[in-house]
Amino acid sequence: MASPSTNLHFILFPLMAQGHMIPMVDIARILAQRGATVTIITTPVNAGRFKSVIDRASEAMLKIQVLVLPLATSEVGLPEGCENFDLLPSAAFSDNLFAAIDMLEEPAEKMLRGLSLAPSCIISDHGISWTTNVAKRLNIPRIIFFGPGCFTSLCINIAMNTNILDEIDSDFEYFVLPGLPDRIEITKPQASGWGKGKTEASFRRFERRQEAGKAAYGIVVNSFEELEPKYVEAFTKVKDKKVWCIGPVSLCNKSFQDTAERGNKAAVDGHDCLKWLDSRETRSVVYVCFGSLSHTSTDQAIELALGLELSNIPFIWFIKCTSEKLERWISEGGYEDRIKDRGLIVRGWAPQVLILSHQAIGGFITHCGWNSTLEAISAGIPMVTWSHFADQFLNERFIIDVLKIGVRIGAEIPVSYGKNDNCEVKVKRENIKTAVECLMNNSEEGNARRKMAKELGEMAKRAMEDGGSSHINMTSMIHDITQELGKNTKLVQDLA
Ligand code: UDP
Repeated sequence: MASPSTNLHFILFPLMAQGHMIPMVDIARILAQRGATVTIITTPVNAGRFKSVIDRASEAMLKIQVLVLPLATSEVGLPEGCENFDLLPSAAFSDNLFAAIDMLEEPAEKMLRGLSLAPSCIISDHGISWTTNVAKRLNIPRIIFFGPGCFTSLCINIAMNTNILDEIDSDFEYFVLPGLPDRIEITKPQASGWGKGKTEASFRRFERRQEAGKAAYGIVVNSFEELEPKYVEAFTKVKDKKVWCIGPVSLCNKSFQDTAERGNKAAVDGHDCLKWLDSRETRSVVYVCFGSLSHTSTDQAIELALGLELSNIPFIWFIKCTSEKLERWISEGGYEDRIKDRGLIVRGWAPQVLILSHQAIGGFITHCGWNSTLEAISAGIPMVTWSHFADQFLNERFIIDVLKIGVRIGAEIPVSYGKNDNCEVKVKRENIKTAVECLMNNSEEGNARRKMAKELGEMAKRAMEDGGSSHINMTSMIHDITQELGKNTKLVQDLA
């Protein structure tokens, strides 16, 4: 299908978490590349994080703007500026942040009504359910953005909408998740990380999302059809609405700056990091990074450091949030000295997409966040899977059981996100060593994983090219919205 030129104006409401905002900003860019006007609505701190990305898009003549609504953090008991899940003092404050987000409904609608170019369609994070009311009142379609891919979304749907979890007593026993094309075994806590939550507020939120989900016009998914054809089909069937797989959206970033600077300012000048990687052999280095929300306790970080040392494999490890104790251990114990010939530790935000696409990277120790998973797939990199919470255990099953491009490190019990330094060591250095060696060695299995990862990476790139499946799906989405708006306008005219 040819790419239509479009006068559509898409309004994007990303949830204030990096794993949701980063792909939404990519979606904004893809829509704008198709000629649409895009307005992203967010809060001041979040807008600041994306300023340079949006400025570059504007310089490239893409019609993207960010409009800012202040968030009433103090009214919900949050410190000033605490506008993103990665800024919360602890996970216990999630309900507070959601309460503040809920207060944006009225100002957001007022803002949309004041726009000079009328909105044509809302693309809202699944987690912001009040956008359904705004779309209804503005008489425009609302599309929801699902964070994870179709496999995981389908598993979540089964876990949340059947009584399968009520039938399971044990928190440790693995059971087969029914109704899936593949045999997927999981424990009850691993399958429950995304959904009803533990508080009354989170349960009410879950119900509101379900209702808003039913009313949605369609669903955009950051995935591509060739990656999970059976799951795209099954998910579309259970949702009984249009599902457009339009990813991997990270592949829309082509320039050095755009791949190096996503979500936050990277802790290293990309060039320094690349210089180190340039000095390593092709596919020899393991990249270690656990996304934007997972916290590695000091004791666990030390264990990881020792595991990486034992494995003797070159590594680049981004520590998002260090501690005095960890820094003392690294410097006083002589660790950095011992690993200096083959290991690089960087404190802060990684230029992840840039690193994953470097030829020296041969493996990724990941927390299995969906974006990280898909970014590794796009780069053709196999993974050591170390899930922490939410949908990550399901993504892990996808990597291991369906795609067969990973080695499990053996983390079994979900942990809470956010800072907490009192966690005991959950994954031992020997397991880390074994998993990393297994991933990087030249065994038959290791080669098979690498071959599969490479093929998937090639498929991912093809999907995003002109005429690829994701490109075609984006065209259909634009086409469907145009038709839907035509219908709505006709209805209004008929009623007049
Ligand atoms: N990310 C990054 N640098 C970091 C940590 C994360 O660029 O140091 C990006 C990563 O590339 C991905 C997103 O942040 O796009 C994290 O999303 P994901 O779904 O993997 O995990 P989450 O942070 O939601 O747990």
